[in-house]
Amino acid sequence: MPELPEVEVSRQGLLPFLSQQRIAGAIVRTPRLRHEIPAGLDARLAGLRVEAIRRRGKYLLFDCQGEHAGGCLILHLGMSGSLRLVAPATPAQAHDHFDLLFADTVLRLRDPRRFGALLWHEGEGVETHPLLAGLGIEPLSAAFDGDWLHAATRGRRAPIKPLLMDSRLVVGIGNIYAAESLHLAGISPRRAANRISHARCHLLAAAVRSTLSAAIAAGGSSVRDYVHSDGGAGCFQLRCAVYDRAGEPCPACGGPVKMIRQGGRSSFYCPRCQR
Ligand SMILES: [Zn+2]
Repeated sequence: MPELPEVEVSRQGLLPFLSQQRIAGAIVRTPRLRHEIPAGLDARLAGLRVEAIRRRGKYLLFDCQGEHAGGCLILHLGMSGSLRLVAPATPAQAHDHFDLLFADTVLRLRDPRRFGALLWHEGEGVETHPLLAGLGIEPLSAAFDGDWLHAATRGRRAPIKPLLMDSRLVVGIGNIYAAESLHLAGISPRRAANRISHARCHLLAAAVRSTLSAAIAAGGSSVRDYVHSDGGAGCFQLRCAVYDRAGEPCPACGGPVKMIRQGGRSSFYCPRCQR
């Protein structure tokens, strides 16, 4: 599943090719993904210019502006979505649901499982869109630090790992990155959030930031004409310390990595290093 780093790598990869480019049109081959794709999207987009490509959580936001109208194309890659830049004459293959057409390139969305989203927000204020309004803090923003994490977790007795993965609190920390960040910070995934000291909240915020940044940096080097967001690639690029490594030696202490279930998800951690 594309996680925050893969989405950010896609954004950074697309930006130099699409920024300030005029949209020639759009081709919608599938009426709905997770949601219905808005009717008449081609007519709305044609003639607009891509002013910026932003990311909010795992949503890509294409700010589009014309002389008299503008809006934001909201794109989510779901479970299996990927974006490619292809030459205009490239034939579409199975699961290629959407093309955004430019003069000399095509942005193509492939999504075999169709859990992605493609929506249009007319005018300003896309942040108030129902899909975006309830999202928590960005983990790579300056506001996400130990002070914030400490304040946000007081009164929260739930284990820290499911909280970290709750996008209403903080966006874009999937299972892999939660496990790796907690290992880096030496905090057990089972620890009650409100029992983590201020100093350790600083360690954890820094660990989240560095884990996500390392994955983005690893993915960023592979982006050229092919803009990928390949599910599962994050862990490979990250050389995970604990994620999906039950029974293998912890790289820090050599003790066996343990797997437990938390909220229906697998959690991997080192009981020696993480308290
Ligand atoms: Zn260890």
